[in-house]
Amino acid sequence: MEDIKNYTLDELKEFLTTKGYHQFYAKQIFSWLYKKRLEDFDEMTNISKEGRRFLKENFYFSQLKLLKREISRDGTEKFLFNLPDNSGIETVFIPEEKRRTLCLSTQVGCRFNCKFCLSGQGGFKRNLTVSEIINQYLAVADLIAPDKITNVVFMGIGEPLDNFEHTLKAIEIFMEPLGIYLGKRKICISTCGLIPQIKKLSDLKLGIKLSLSLHSPDDNIRTQIMPVNKKHPLGEVIKAIRSFSNQKYPITFEYILIKGLNTRKEDTLELAKLLRGINYIINLIPYNAPASLKPGFLKEPGFRELKPPLPEEVDNFKEELIKKGIFASVRKSRGEDINAACGQLRALWKGNGSIY
Ligand code: SAH
Repeated sequence: MEDIKNYTLDELKEFLTTKGYHQFYAKQIFSWLYKKRLEDFDEMTNISKEGRRFLKENFYFSQLKLLKREISRDGTEKFLFNLPDNSGIETVFIPEEKRRTLCLSTQVGCRFNCKFCLSGQGGFKRNLTVSEIINQYLAVADLIAPDKITNVVFMGIGEPLDNFEHTLKAIEIFMEPLGIYLGKRKICISTCGLIPQIKKLSDLKLGIKLSLSLHSPDDNIRTQIMPVNKKHPLGEVIKAIRSFSNQKYPITFEYILIKGLNTRKEDTLELAKLLRGINYIINLIPYNAPASLKPGFLKEPGFRELKPPLPEEVDNFKEELIKKGIFASVRKSRGEDINAACGQLRALWKGNGSIY
Protein backbone atom coordinates (compact mmCIF):
# COMPACT_ATOMS: atom_id res chain seq x y z
CA MET A 1 0.00 0.00 0.00
CA GLU A 2 1.24 3.44 -0.93
CA ASP A 3 0.62 6.75 0.79
CA ILE A 4 -1.15 8.76 -1.92
CA LYS A 5 0.05 12.11 -0.56
CA ASN A 6 3.63 11.16 -1.41
CA TYR A 7 2.75 11.48 -5.08
CA THR A 8 3.05 14.56 -7.27
CA LEU A 9 0.48 14.86 -10.03
CA ASP A 10 2.97 13.70 -12.66
CA GLU A 11 4.03 10.70 -10.59
CA LEU A 12 0.42 9.69 -10.05
CA LYS A 13 -0.31 10.02 -13.77
CA GLU A 14 2.67 7.83 -14.55
CA PHE A 15 1.74 5.23 -11.97
CA LEU A 16 -1.81 5.02 -13.27
CA THR A 17 -0.85 4.77 -16.94
CA THR A 18 1.65 2.00 -16.25
CA LYS A 19 -1.19 0.10 -14.55
CA GLY A 20 -3.42 0.59 -17.58
CA TYR A 21 -5.63 3.35 -16.17
CA HIS A 22 -6.32 6.68 -17.78
CA GLN A 23 -4.02 9.42 -16.52
CA PHE A 24 -7.03 11.71 -16.18
CA TYR A 25 -7.82 9.84 -12.96
CA ALA A 26 -4.80 11.51 -11.40
CA LYS A 27 -6.32 14.97 -11.95
CA GLN A 28 -9.64 13.80 -10.53
CA ILE A 29 -7.95 12.31 -7.46
CA PHE A 30 -5.92 15.50 -6.88
CA SER A 31 -8.99 17.62 -7.16
CA TRP A 32 -10.99 15.44 -4.71
CA LEU A 33 -8.11 15.22 -2.30
CA TYR A 34 -6.74 18.75 -2.27
CA LYS A 35 -9.63 20.88 -3.49
CA LYS A 36 -12.62 19.12 -1.94
CA ARG A 37 -10.58 17.66 0.95
CA LEU A 38 -12.01 14.21 0.59
CA GLU A 39 -10.07 11.20 1.85
CA ASP A 40 -12.24 8.32 0.76
CA PHE A 41 -11.98 6.72 -2.70
CA ASP A 42 -15.58 5.46 -2.45
CA GLU A 43 -16.80 9.04 -2.59
CA MET A 44 -14.76 9.94 -5.68
CA THR A 45 -17.81 9.42 -7.81
CA ASN A 46 -16.46 10.49 -11.19
CA ILE A 47 -14.02 7.58 -11.09
CA SER A 48 -15.30 4.21 -12.32
CA LYS A 49 -16.16 1.54 -9.74
CA GLU A 50 -13.33 -0.63 -10.97
CA GLY A 51 -10.95 2.33 -10.80
CA ARG A 52 -11.97 3.05 -7.21
CA ARG A 53 -11.43 -0.59 -6.29
CA PHE A 54 -7.93 -0.46 -7.78
CA LEU A 55 -7.13 2.76 -5.91
CA LYS A 56 -8.36 1.32 -2.62
CA GLU A 57 -6.17 -1.72 -3.07
CA ASN A 58 -3.08 0.35 -3.81
CA PHE A 59 -3.31 3.56 -1.81
CA TYR A 60 -4.17 4.85 1.63
CA PHE A 61 -4.60 8.33 3.11
CA SER A 62 -2.12 9.07 5.89
CA GLN A 63 -2.82 11.54 8.66
CA LEU A 64 -0.74 13.17 11.37
CA LYS A 65 -1.73 12.68 14.97
CA LEU A 66 -2.13 15.99 16.77
CA LEU A 67 -0.55 15.82 20.21
CA LYS A 68 -0.83 19.40 21.24
CA ARG A 69 -2.18 22.71 19.99
CA GLU A 70 -1.12 25.85 21.77
CA ILE A 71 -2.43 29.32 21.05
CA SER A 72 -0.33 32.29 22.01
CA ARG A 73 -1.69 35.61 23.30
CA ASP A 74 -0.52 37.14 19.99
CA GLY A 75 -2.50 34.64 17.90
CA THR A 76 0.47 32.46 16.92
CA GLU A 77 -0.45 28.81 17.07
CA LYS A 78 1.87 25.92 17.57
CA PHE A 79 1.04 22.34 16.66
CA LEU A 80 2.94 19.31 17.87
CA PHE A 81 2.36 16.23 15.71
CA ASN A 82 3.22 12.63 16.36
CA LEU A 83 4.47 10.46 13.48
CA PRO A 84 4.00 6.70 13.13
CA ASP A 85 7.56 6.05 14.39
CA ASN A 86 6.73 8.09 17.49
CA SER A 87 8.79 11.10 16.37
CA GLY A 88 7.51 14.57 17.16
CA ILE A 89 7.45 17.48 14.71
CA GLU A 90 6.24 21.03 15.06
CA THR A 91 4.32 23.33 12.78
CA VAL A 92 3.70 26.98 13.58
CA PHE A 93 0.87 29.16 12.25
CA ILE A 94 1.62 32.88 12.28
CA PRO A 95 -1.35 35.13 11.49
CA GLU A 96 -0.53 38.72 10.53
CA GLU A 97 -2.68 41.47 9.12
CA LYS A 98 -2.29 40.53 5.49
CA ARG A 99 -0.54 37.16 5.59
CA ARG A 100 -1.26 33.97 7.44
CA THR A 101 1.94 31.97 7.30
CA LEU A 102 2.55 28.32 8.09
CA CYS A 103 6.05 27.37 9.18
CA LEU A 104 6.76 23.77 8.16
CA SER A 105 9.22 21.16 9.41
CA THR A 106 11.13 19.05 6.88
CA GLN A 107 13.12 16.65 9.07
CA VAL A 108 12.95 14.93 12.44
CA GLY A 109 15.85 16.70 14.13
CA CYS A 110 18.61 18.33 12.12
CA ARG A 111 22.20 17.50 11.14
CA PHE A 112 23.63 21.00 11.29
CA ASN A 113 23.77 21.74 14.97
CA CYS A 114 23.59 25.55 14.96
CA LYS A 115 24.40 26.64 18.49
CA PHE A 116 21.38 28.91 18.89
CA CYS A 117 18.81 26.42 17.60
CA LEU A 118 17.21 23.62 19.55
CA SER A 119 16.28 21.52 16.53
CA GLY A 120 19.69 19.96 16.09
CA GLN A 121 20.36 19.47 19.77
CA GLY A 122 18.60 16.13 19.95
CA GLY A 123 20.46 14.90 16.84
CA PHE A 124 19.13 13.93 13.44
CA LYS A 125 16.66 11.11 13.06
CA ARG A 126 15.30 11.14 9.52
CA ASN A 127 13.86 13.08 6.62
CA LEU A 128 10.14 13.69 6.54
CA THR A 129 8.25 12.08 3.69
CA VAL A 130 6.42 14.23 1.14
CA SER A 131 3.13 13.33 2.77
CA GLU A 132 4.39 14.30 6.24
CA ILE A 133 5.20 17.75 4.87
CA ILE A 134 1.89 18.07 3.01
CA ASN A 135 -0.06 16.69 5.98
CA GLN A 136 1.24 19.48 8.24
CA TYR A 137 -0.43 21.93 5.88
CA LEU A 138 -3.66 19.93 5.49
CA ALA A 139 -4.03 19.28 9.23
CA VAL A 140 -3.54 22.92 10.18
CA ALA A 141 -5.71 24.15 7.29
CA ASP A 142 -8.54 21.93 8.56
CA LEU A 143 -8.03 23.03 12.18
CA ILE A 144 -7.99 26.77 11.52
CA ALA A 145 -10.80 26.80 8.91
CA PRO A 146 -12.51 29.02 7.82
CA ASP A 147 -9.31 31.00 8.28
CA LYS A 148 -6.91 30.35 5.41
CA ILE A 149 -3.18 29.81 5.12
CA THR A 150 -1.74 32.26 2.56
CA ASN A 151 2.00 31.49 2.75
CA VAL A 152 4.27 28.60 3.65
CA VAL A 153 7.84 28.90 4.87
CA PHE A 154 10.23 25.97 5.30
CA MET A 155 11.63 27.30 8.54
CA GLY A 156 10.57 24.73 11.07
CA ILE A 157 12.59 21.77 12.31
CA GLY A 158 15.29 20.56 9.93
CA GLU A 159 17.13 21.82 6.89
CA PRO A 160 14.84 21.78 3.84
CA LEU A 161 17.71 21.62 1.34
CA ASP A 162 19.08 18.55 3.16
CA ASN A 163 15.76 16.85 2.36
CA PHE A 164 15.84 18.24 -1.14
CA GLU A 165 13.83 15.65 -3.02
CA HIS A 166 10.86 15.51 -0.65
CA THR A 167 10.79 19.26 -0.04
CA LEU A 168 10.76 19.92 -3.79
CA LYS A 169 8.01 17.36 -4.40
CA ALA A 170 5.95 18.91 -1.62
CA ILE A 171 6.48 22.31 -3.26
CA GLU A 172 5.24 20.83 -6.54
CA ILE A 173 2.02 19.82 -4.78
CA PHE A 174 1.76 23.24 -3.09
CA MET A 175 2.10 24.98 -6.46
CA GLU A 176 -0.07 22.60 -8.49
CA PRO A 177 -3.31 24.30 -9.62
CA LEU A 178 -5.21 21.04 -9.03
CA GLY A 179 -3.40 20.58 -5.73
CA ILE A 180 -3.05 23.10 -2.93
CA TYR A 181 -2.32 25.92 -5.40
CA LEU A 182 -0.15 28.49 -3.67
CA GLY A 183 1.65 31.09 -5.75
CA LYS A 184 5.41 30.76 -6.15
CA ARG A 185 6.02 33.96 -4.20
CA LYS A 186 3.99 32.55 -1.30
CA ILE A 187 6.54 29.80 -0.73
CA CYS A 188 9.88 30.37 0.95
CA ILE A 189 12.74 27.98 1.65
CA SER A 190 15.08 28.94 4.46
CA THR A 191 18.56 27.42 4.44
CA CYS A 192 21.69 27.42 6.53
CA GLY A 193 23.59 27.60 3.21
CA LEU A 194 24.10 24.28 1.39
CA ILE A 195 25.85 25.38 -1.79
CA PRO A 196 25.19 22.48 -4.23
CA GLN A 197 21.50 22.49 -3.35
CA ILE A 198 21.21 26.27 -3.69
CA LYS A 199 22.65 25.87 -7.18
CA LYS A 200 20.27 23.04 -8.00
CA LEU A 201 17.34 25.09 -6.78
CA SER A 202 18.56 28.05 -8.78
CA ASP A 203 18.69 25.92 -11.97
CA LEU A 204 15.10 24.80 -11.44
CA LYS A 205 13.94 28.45 -11.72
CA LEU A 206 10.78 27.84 -9.72
CA GLY A 207 10.50 31.47 -8.72
CA ILE A 208 10.00 30.62 -5.05
CA LYS A 209 11.60 32.73 -2.35
CA LEU A 210 14.90 31.90 -0.71
CA SER A 211 16.06 32.95 2.71
CA LEU A 212 19.58 32.52 4.05
CA SER A 213 20.26 32.09 7.75
CA LEU A 214 23.25 34.42 7.79
CA HIS A 215 23.76 35.33 11.46
CA SER A 216 27.29 36.73 11.02
CA PRO A 217 29.35 38.24 8.19
CA ASP A 218 32.52 36.94 9.87
CA ASP A 219 33.66 33.47 8.84
CA ASN A 220 35.13 32.60 12.25
CA ILE A 221 32.12 33.68 14.24
CA ARG A 222 29.73 32.09 11.77
CA THR A 223 31.64 28.81 12.07
CA GLN A 224 31.42 29.04 15.86
CA ILE A 225 27.65 29.32 15.87
CA MET A 226 26.96 27.45 12.61
CA PRO A 227 29.37 24.52 12.10
CA VAL A 228 28.03 24.13 8.52
CA ASN A 229 30.10 27.21 7.67
CA LYS A 230 33.26 25.05 7.75
CA LYS A 231 32.08 23.01 4.78
CA HIS A 232 30.17 25.80 3.08
CA PRO A 233 32.05 29.02 3.84
CA LEU A 234 30.16 32.26 3.69
CA GLY A 235 31.98 33.73 0.68
CA GLU A 236 31.01 30.72 -1.43
CA VAL A 237 27.45 30.69 -0.08
CA ILE A 238 27.02 34.33 -1.00
CA LYS A 239 28.33 33.61 -4.50
CA ALA A 240 25.68 30.91 -4.90
CA ILE A 241 23.07 33.29 -3.52
CA ARG A 242 24.08 35.99 -6.00
CA SER A 243 23.56 33.63 -8.89
CA PHE A 244 20.28 32.34 -7.45
CA SER A 245 18.76 35.71 -7.48
CA ASN A 246 18.05 37.08 -10.92
CA GLN A 247 17.82 40.39 -9.04
CA LYS A 248 14.14 40.65 -9.87
CA TYR A 249 13.10 39.38 -6.49
CA PRO A 250 14.93 40.00 -3.23
CA ILE A 251 16.67 37.31 -1.21
CA THR A 252 15.91 37.36 2.51
CA PHE A 253 18.71 37.25 5.05
CA GLU A 254 17.94 36.17 8.58
CA TYR A 255 20.22 37.56 11.25
CA ILE A 256 19.79 36.46 14.86
CA LEU A 257 21.17 39.08 17.23
CA ILE A 258 23.19 37.45 20.00
CA LYS A 259 24.46 39.54 22.87
CA GLY A 260 28.04 40.73 22.36
CA LEU A 261 28.71 38.23 19.58
CA ASN A 262 27.48 39.48 16.21
CA THR A 263 26.20 42.95 17.07
CA ARG A 264 29.50 44.86 16.84
CA LYS A 265 30.10 47.90 14.67
CA GLU A 266 32.55 45.96 12.50
CA ASP A 267 29.80 43.43 11.78
CA THR A 268 27.71 46.17 10.21
CA LEU A 269 30.67 47.19 8.02
CA GLU A 270 31.29 43.61 6.92
CA LEU A 271 27.60 43.10 6.25
CA ALA A 272 27.51 46.13 4.01
CA LYS A 273 30.45 44.75 2.01
CA LEU A 274 29.00 41.27 1.80
CA LEU A 275 25.58 42.33 0.61
CA ARG A 276 26.72 44.91 -1.93
CA GLY A 277 24.97 44.45 -5.26
CA ILE A 278 22.45 41.92 -3.96
CA ASN A 279 18.73 42.63 -4.04
CA TYR A 280 17.79 41.68 -0.47
CA ILE A 281 15.69 42.09 2.63
CA ILE A 282 17.33 41.60 6.01
CA ASN A 283 15.46 40.52 9.13
CA LEU A 284 17.04 41.00 12.53
CA ILE A 285 15.80 38.48 15.07
CA PRO A 286 16.67 38.96 18.74
CA TYR A 287 17.93 35.59 19.94
CA ASN A 288 15.16 33.69 21.59
CA ALA A 289 16.74 31.84 24.49
CA PRO A 290 15.02 28.56 25.30
CA ALA A 291 13.49 28.72 28.73
CA SER A 292 12.63 26.05 31.24
CA LEU A 293 14.42 23.13 29.66
CA LYS A 294 15.59 20.32 31.80
CA PRO A 295 19.36 20.61 32.21
CA GLY A 296 21.03 17.55 30.76
CA PHE A 297 18.78 17.52 27.72
CA LEU A 298 21.17 19.67 25.73
CA LYS A 299 24.28 18.03 24.39
CA GLU A 300 26.22 21.24 23.94
CA PRO A 301 27.78 22.55 27.13
CA GLY A 302 28.23 26.03 25.62
CA PHE A 303 24.63 26.28 24.54
CA ARG A 304 23.38 28.30 27.43
CA GLU A 305 26.11 30.87 27.09
CA LEU A 306 24.38 32.54 24.16
CA LYS A 307 22.27 35.42 25.43
CA PRO A 308 19.58 37.65 23.94
CA PRO A 309 20.78 41.15 23.01
CA LEU A 310 20.03 44.16 25.17
CA PRO A 311 17.34 46.44 23.72
CA GLU A 312 19.89 49.23 23.14
CA GLU A 313 22.18 46.74 21.42
CA VAL A 314 19.40 46.01 18.92
CA ASP A 315 18.75 49.73 18.35
CA ASN A 316 22.45 50.55 17.92
CA PHE A 317 22.97 47.73 15.47
CA LYS A 318 19.99 48.84 13.41
CA GLU A 319 21.21 52.47 13.48
CA GLU A 320 24.72 51.47 12.40
CA LEU A 321 23.24 49.49 9.52
CA ILE A 322 21.17 52.47 8.42
CA LYS A 323 24.32 54.61 8.35
CA LYS A 324 25.71 52.11 5.87
CA GLY A 325 22.58 52.18 3.73
CA ILE A 326 21.14 48.90 5.05
CA PHE A 327 17.52 49.06 6.11
CA ALA A 328 16.79 46.11 8.33
CA SER A 329 13.58 45.30 10.10
CA VAL A 330 13.57 43.81 13.57
CA ARG A 331 11.31 40.83 13.56
CA LYS A 332 8.92 40.82 16.44
CA SER A 333 9.21 37.70 18.46
CA ARG A 334 6.01 35.74 18.05
CA GLY A 335 4.52 33.14 20.29
CA GLU A 336 7.07 33.55 23.06
CA ASP A 337 4.61 32.41 25.70
CA ILE A 338 4.14 29.08 23.89
CA ASN A 339 7.80 28.27 23.15
CA ALA A 340 7.23 28.81 19.45
CA ALA A 341 10.91 29.14 18.50
CA CYS A 342 12.39 26.39 16.43
CA GLY A 343 12.37 23.03 18.14
CA GLN A 344 11.31 24.26 21.56
CA LEU A 345 8.04 22.45 21.99
CA ARG A 346 9.44 19.19 20.76
CA ALA A 347 12.47 19.61 23.02
CA LEU A 348 10.25 20.16 26.03
CA TRP A 349 8.16 17.17 25.13
CA LYS A 350 11.17 14.88 24.70
CA GLY A 351 12.96 16.46 27.66
CA ASN A 352 10.09 15.67 29.98
CA GLY A 353 9.99 12.14 28.67
CA SER A 354 6.22 12.31 28.47
CA ILE A 355 3.57 13.86 26.34
CA TYR A 356 2.38 16.46 28.83
N1 SAH B 1 17.59 24.96 8.50
C1 SAH B 1 16.92 26.11 7.99
C2 SAH B 1 15.52 26.30 8.54
C3 SAH B 1 15.31 26.14 10.02
S1 SAH B 1 15.97 27.40 11.08
C4 SAH B 1 17.75 27.36 8.20
O1 SAH B 1 18.83 27.24 8.80
O2 SAH B 1 17.37 28.41 7.73
C5 SAH B 1 15.17 28.82 10.53
C6 SAH B 1 15.32 30.02 11.38
O3 SAH B 1 14.89 29.76 12.72
C7 SAH B 1 16.71 30.60 11.59
O4 SAH B 1 17.21 31.38 10.57
C8 SAH B 1 16.40 31.50 12.73
O5 SAH B 1 15.88 32.67 12.15
C9 SAH B 1 15.33 30.81 13.52
N2 SAH B 1 15.79 30.39 14.84
C10 SAH B 1 16.23 29.18 15.23
N3 SAH B 1 16.56 29.18 16.54
C11 SAH B 1 16.30 30.42 16.98
C12 SAH B 1 16.42 31.06 18.26
N4 SAH B 1 16.86 30.40 19.32
N5 SAH B 1 16.10 32.35 18.33
C13 SAH B 1 15.63 33.03 17.26
N6 SAH B 1 15.47 32.49 16.05
C14 SAH B 1 15.80 31.20 15.91
